[in-house]
Amino acid sequence: MTWNDSIVWVFRDFGLHDCRFKDYYVALLLQFPSTHTPIYFVIQSIDYPIHRQTIQIIKATHMGFCFGVRDAIHLAQEESSKGPVTILGDLVHNRSVMASLEARGITIARTPEAVETPRLMVTAHGTSDRTRQVLENLGFNPIDATCPLVHHAHRSLRRLVSMGYHPVVIGKRGHTEVLGLAGDFDQCEVVLSPEDIRAMKPRARFGVIAQTTQPLERVRGLVDTIRTTFPDAEVRFEDTVCQPTKLRQNSVRELARQCDVVIVVGGKHSNNTAELARTARDHITRVHQVESPEELRDEWVQGCSKIGVTAGTSTPEETIQAVVDRLEELAARAVGE
Ligand code: SF4
Repeated sequence: MTWNDSIVWVFRDFGLHDCRFKDYYVALLLQFPSTHTPIYFVIQSIDYPIHRQTIQIIKATHMGFCFGVRDAIHLAQEESSKGPVTILGDLVHNRSVMASLEARGITIARTPEAVETPRLMVTAHGTSDRTRQVLENLGFNPIDATCPLVHHAHRSLRRLVSMGYHPVVIGKRGHTEVLGLAGDFDQCEVVLSPEDIRAMKPRARFGVIAQTTQPLERVRGLVDTIRTTFPDAEVRFEDTVCQPTKLRQNSVRELARQCDVVIVVGGKHSNNTAELARTARDHITRVHQVESPEELRDEWVQGCSKIGVTAGTSTPEETIQAVVDRLEELAARAVGE
């Protein structure tokens, strides 16, 4: 054991391993010949702060791929090994995932008419029964990668309509999942703000569901707005926000409460990733959304002690890890290690 080793052990033994001897402590090593047991004493502490500045990187308890996305990717990979297949739209809103699928020979088409392979896959976001009918009329027997929780949202809305409720979807207009949910009901309202709700016509009964990736707090707030805007109407709400979204939303809230900065990893077009960033911004201002580690900037880690990391449901583990690795480098540089 060298003298330097012993210093390190002093700090380990005293729980001070993040300190440096040259800055803070003078230590004495004594060794008793009879026992050969080294005994360490800190004999003087100098009037400096005990701990060096450190930056801790904290990962959200729940983040990254959900089971719906994972299953859809596996299905696409499996189907691609059987022959040419086209996915109708982005299977998930993540460029690296889509690039890896295209590298396997999978093609992407935006409309059924543009599909040139004999086999076609519907994405995890699902589609309307009307679109399924169009696909069948074109001779396709679609491979269905729709998440079971999106199917559940479709069933909930269908049931509400069959009971005589006017359909309302709380979600982002134009999003693939929302287009699919609303696509079978001509009168379906799609709302995402109190203004959207105030623009609706009065009805006797509203049947309300939500896009699976909406934050539940916002959804509940908008359901209350429907109730107060139309006090004479019967409003029935079925909670179709999926459990992975709820877990990720709760986790990012916890993360934002304890961190100075939150990094959200995920595709720029991913709704659930954008919602994680929005929720974090309800608590702190230093929130950054990135698709890859190259986008991280030195100044984002300056002056902070805790950086939180979370990721959308379509972000692969490799991307999350690459971002964490890069953050560790930036953090080490920021504290001068
Ligand atoms: S976010 Fe929810 S609904 Fe969407 S694929 Fe994942 S589990 Fe399914």
